Amino acid sequence: MKSLALHWKILIGMLAGVTFGFIMLEVDGADFVASWIKPLGTIFVKLLKLIAVPLILASLIKGISDLKDISKFASIGLKTIVIYVLTTVIAISIGLILVNTLNPGDGVSTETIAKLTETYADNSSVQGKIAEASRQQASRPLDFLVDMVPDNAFSALSNNKLMLQVIFLAMFLGISLLLVGEKSAKPLKDFFDSLNDVVLKMVDLIMLSAPYAVFALLANVVVSSGDPELLYALLFYSGVVVGGLFLMICFYLVLVSVITKRNPIWFLKQISPAQLLAFSTSSSAATLPVTMERVEEHLGVDKEVSSFVLPVGATINMDGTSLYQAVAAVFIAQALDFDLTFADQLTIVLTALLASIGSAAVPGAGMVMLVIVLESVGFPADKLAIGLALIFAVDRPLDMCRTMVNVTGDATVSMIVAKFEGKLHKPKSKEWDDHLEEVI
Ligand code: ASP
Repeated sequence: MKSLALHWKILIGMLAGVTFGFIMLEVDGADFVASWIKPLGTIFVKLLKLIAVPLILASLIKGISDLKDISKFASIGLKTIVIYVLTTVIAISIGLILVNTLNPGDGVSTETIAKLTETYADNSSVQGKIAEASRQQASRPLDFLVDMVPDNAFSALSNNKLMLQVIFLAMFLGISLLLVGEKSAKPLKDFFDSLNDVVLKMVDLIMLSAPYAVFALLANVVVSSGDPELLYALLFYSGVVVGGLFLMICFYLVLVSVITKRNPIWFLKQISPAQLLAFSTSSSAATLPVTMERVEEHLGVDKEVSSFVLPVGATINMDGTSLYQAVAAVFIAQALDFDLTFADQLTIVLTALLASIGSAAVPGAGMVMLVIVLESVGFPADKLAIGLALIFAVDRPLDMCRTMVNVTGDATVSMIVAKFEGKLHKPKSKEWDDHLEEVI
């Protein structure tokens, strides 16, 4: 498979994984997949997570300490946040317009609601999401700022969930490095420069196994999916979500073409390995190292921009998730005859925006925030489990699609910010074996 482009190899791996999964379902091989195939995917995701923290740290410190002027950093930060908020509001609006015109919830029969409720309402995962949402709601408005500041550098670095703390630490270190003068900064700066190159090489090495890993991940998704009849009943709802996500991708392509003046098809080709991994892992956090590598080496975004925009985006910018939340909330309200006023729809825009900022970049996080969105429009607490049960069966496939959009959104915004800052260059990609002959 050496001559094929990486995205084709991954795509073949995915198709083979899905086919294999269906064959295994036919021969009752779900257990075989769980015992012998799934671990390959799990190891791959663990490897990606393993390098996420060192990569964010090294890349952000390098990015900031390469800036000649600290005020540039403020300008990058401000543009990033503003564009992230704008794209998220557009995503939610697309979701709301689609779900309100197509009304997928109106066609759900009472039998389907009863069957879905009976199958999923007491499911521990549904109950867990409701409990998690109430834990998150109990926090005060400025808690997120407090949580962003670590009180122990090593504990921040030792927990992948504390991504914002790592970003804070790296920014603080990078800015201080700029201020100590060149002589004192040099040894530490050289260290992080080198660490950054090494970790990016680790991404290349891990990606060699990507086609096999996605095979394992997708075979496992297929064998653990729910009753096909229930999936079928939710086809219209799923179609509306997927249609909205597709429109969002088209919107990014227009932005890439109009603002950055790059060919959108070229953009898709360069970023596709990250998109396919986002789809296969359902986690923007696990995909982050690959997104960073693709955006820097294949799209030509300067590290000064990508090292900030991408890790921040993986945590706070989730256009796909917010679009999904808008559609899911209205779908549940339609199916359970809960009337939503125009003001309620505006509340959904605001809460889905905040919720997507607060969502963790891991599988299924969007559903936790959906509970908060539903509660914000006064949805009765005793019906929450029924509401979630309605959409639970298709959550995983939709999670895969929305994560792909989340990652594409981050890559698009990093290109736009780079363009505005004059930091979009001709890409220079590195291969895993560039220096191989020196060591063998
Ligand atoms: N899985 C999504 C992500 O990692 C979050 C979600 O929508 O559940 O981006």
